[in-house]
Amino acid sequence: MSDTMKNSVRSSVTQSGDQTVLRTDDVTKKFGGLTAVDAVNIEVNKGEIVGLIGPNGAGKSTLFNCITGALDADDGRVYLQDEDVTNWPEYKIARAGIGRMFQETRIFGAMSVRKNLLLAAQEGDANIGRLLRRPDESLISRSEELLEYVDLGGLAETPAGQLSFGQQKLTEFIMELMAEPNLLLMDEPAGGINPSMLENLIEYIRTANEDEEATIFLIEHNMDFVMEVADRIYVLAHGERIAEGTPDEIQNNQRVLDAYLGRE
Ligand code: ADP
Ligand code: MG
Repeated sequence: MSDTMKNSVRSSVTQSGDQTVLRTDDVTKKFGGLTAVDAVNIEVNKGEIVGLIGPNGAGKSTLFNCITGALDADDGRVYLQDEDVTNWPEYKIARAGIGRMFQETRIFGAMSVRKNLLLAAQEGDANIGRLLRRPDESLISRSEELLEYVDLGGLAETPAGQLSFGQQKLTEFIMELMAEPNLLLMDEPAGGINPSMLENLIEYIRTANEDEEATIFLIEHNMDFVMEVADRIYVLAHGERIAEGTPDEIQNNQRVLDAYLGRE
């Protein structure tokens, strides 16, 4: 890494605030002879929207999996709010306040949009039947507020399976917000969403960040999208972190351009 880049790393990290929500320290994950994630250091501070990009197979989803406990790291540490959560079981990390939105949909199609939202807010040991029959007033009003905010207010009682793909993505997004996570990880939120809804999604993510103080760490393939939504971006290639910076810095980084053109 050049000195200029080191300085930009340092300045962007210190500028964006004191509270680190997520930090990885040399996280490494191997699959047999392949090092999918190679001693990666990243930091996400409270209130930030941070992007994670890189060519196919770069190790982005694997890094997410090591953070959420879906996979055990072979080496390195993961810290949430300064607590060492390395290789904790997934449910325990979720309870520590990490939400994760997946590429594939996790909605219950036969259930109404609202019931999906209520379920998303439940604690591990809640009685699900009772939660759905007699939901808490505060959860209902939270669900209404979130539905309004992504312009799905009229669809609360519709079976979620009847929504368009884009509307289902938005539902999953607010399902994650129901639980008020300290950090929300999103794996390719723009994937498969039609262009007219992309601008809305950017606006919703930004509003969640500003109004709900949601801290967001997102993997994204769509460059225009990530450049517009992220405050700061990390780039992985072949498991290694090759760059960090503002969208402007990343777009003009020769190493990043080379990695995307397969010249690394
Ligand atoms: P990205 O999300 O950046 O496209 P991945 O993290 O999915 O990349 O994959 C990184 C590398 O690890 C790829 O070479 C992929 O084939 C490999 N990989 C991912 N998951 C597994 C697994 N469960 N077993 C073996 N290899 C894997
Ligand atoms: Mg992936």
